[in-house]
Amino acid sequence: MKQSEFDLTQDGRRKTGPTIREIHITPIAVVDPPLLNAAGLHAPYALRTIVELVTDDGISGISEIPGNSGIDAALAESRDLLIGKDVFQLNEIRRVLVNRFGTETAAQRGEAPWDQRKLVHIFSAIEVACLDIIGKVTGRPVVDLLGGKLRDRVPFSAYLFYKYEGAGGKLAFGIDPEAQGWAAARQASALNPAEIVAQAKAMCAEFGFQSIKLKGGVFDPRQEVDAMFALRDAFGPDVPLRIDPNALWTVETAIRYGRELEPILEYLEDPVRGQANMAQVRNALKTPLATNMCTTSFEDIPASIALSSEDIILSDHHFWGGLRASITLAGICETFGRGLSMHSNSHLGISLAAMVHLGAALPTLPYALDTHYPWQSDEVITAGRFHFEDGAVAVPQEPGLGVELDRKALAQLHQNYLDCGLTKRDDEVEMQKVQPGWGFRAVRW
Ligand SMILES: [Mg+2]
Repeated sequence: MKQSEFDLTQDGRRKTGPTIREIHITPIAVVDPPLLNAAGLHAPYALRTIVELVTDDGISGISEIPGNSGIDAALAESRDLLIGKDVFQLNEIRRVLVNRFGTETAAQRGEAPWDQRKLVHIFSAIEVACLDIIGKVTGRPVVDLLGGKLRDRVPFSAYLFYKYEGAGGKLAFGIDPEAQGWAAARQASALNPAEIVAQAKAMCAEFGFQSIKLKGGVFDPRQEVDAMFALRDAFGPDVPLRIDPNALWTVETAIRYGRELEPILEYLEDPVRGQANMAQVRNALKTPLATNMCTTSFEDIPASIALSSEDIILSDHHFWGGLRASITLAGICETFGRGLSMHSNSHLGISLAAMVHLGAALPTLPYALDTHYPWQSDEVITAGRFHFEDGAVAVPQEPGLGVELDRKALAQLHQNYLDCGLTKRDDEVEMQKVQPGWGFRAVRW
């Protein structure tokens, strides 16, 4: 810890905090298996962007956001607004970014399968890196900057995917014959209930997950509902189950299959599209509804409350504008009786560390959080891959995020980015390579 930052000026006030001197934006591509979802197929690489801030006194802070060349460019264009800013002045930093980008409403997302709003991504990247620096300066973990730790370990859920056989990366649809354990299982196909159960068993054996989620919206709902009952048969009534059809079902389909699933589901995630449709389904079912699609920003909250569109909001600090905004969301959920849990995209350990610090600070944590982490095999932090025990990750205790950038790995993953030619996520294009003519549909069944 550097003492100088807390020196007082002659008139007894604290000096300003460290200021941002450098901003490094590094797009990376991490190996990702051929996972199926409502929007199509994962490419052989998932894109992430690693952001590093360096202060005038040489302290480094890092963050990770979903990779998208448009957001990277906007972030680079924000340099002039950010260089020289005191890392403690997060309200001021957000204000200048709002002035540049405006507060984009969720409506601007439209039916796009994932969030590409600039302000929330950019502020999330800068805020998390600043909090990492503030933590290092004050000698406290990020969780303490969010009000302090309410739990030592943060539980995550198994996240199952229908998938084609294949490892992703250079192997794409090929298999690495040397792979063992989960690394072997993650290459296997999962296209029917029996293969989904096999995937779940291998993932839970490796990571110890105590809850299970299936990414649906891939096959006819009958097949996906059968997979849920197969999971129930395999794991028994003590393992909470969830399915996420990504809003591809009609209201009628959601009510029909939702009723059938009522005895076995912990919650049903985004069965239908839009708050009004979600409210209609919610009225017809006893099972709680969760969303990361119909209520995805603060602008959506008034209508969510008026319509009662969901029971649980799946937050995501990358999409809600940072960790402190997620704490604000937790307060709103508490006030209006919403549960709060966490959504995930393919990610590495810097995002996971931020999710764990946030998860440890939330007032309540009734549901195990989502994570794609088991599907990734690369890492960009010096400590290597995070360890899960009984499905949970221990909250880092070191100052800041508690993870450090592995510069050699960063360079290799950036080279992957340059070599793979991807600049944004497009699962529809990837799916068309396997099924020519396939097209995304916002509602399918
Ligand atoms: Mg979802």
